[in-house]
Amino acid sequence: MRITPRKHEYQAVVDILVDPTFESPDQMAKALLKEMGAILQMRDLWVLTHRWADGSKGLNYGPFGSTAEAEAFAKKMSFGGTGRVIPLTSSGIALANHDGKAGWPGYCYNPQCGHPPFMHSSVGASRGQCHLDGCACDKFVKDAPKTKSKK
Ligand SMILES: [Zn+2]
Ligand SMILES: [Zn+2]
Repeated sequence: MRITPRKHEYQAVVDILVDPTFESPDQMAKALLKEMGAILQMRDLWVLTHRWADGSKGLNYGPFGSTAEAEAFAKKMSFGGTGRVIPLTSSGIALANHDGKAGWPGYCYNPQCGHPPFMHSSVGASRGQCHLDGCACDKFVKDAPKTKSKK
């Protein structure tokens, strides 16, 4: 799967790499793989579905990082029959809209919150308090603390 790393994605990996609390390379490697799984789950991806020339179902391949990658794969493998590239909607985004996602663009950066903007009250053009039961957030924080200081 070919992807172009985005700043907030590789930053999450860097955070693990510079974390001094890991006791062994194995422990760090496991944390990195889990983080990368979570990062990829936040993306919309693509799969290639396949039917043989007689109309019977082939295998579905993927995921791919883009339609171009899926098409290149189909061309290279030349299975015959017909293929179709279909989008896979990110299950990570659906979960994040439901449960929140701390430290991720599009979600509240208040350390106690991490919930999506629509869960916050409207205050003029900005957003205020989080409506979720038990959440202590009193103002939606749009930008990551690190990104903010660089502007
Ligand atoms: Zn909240
Ligand atoms: Zn919030």
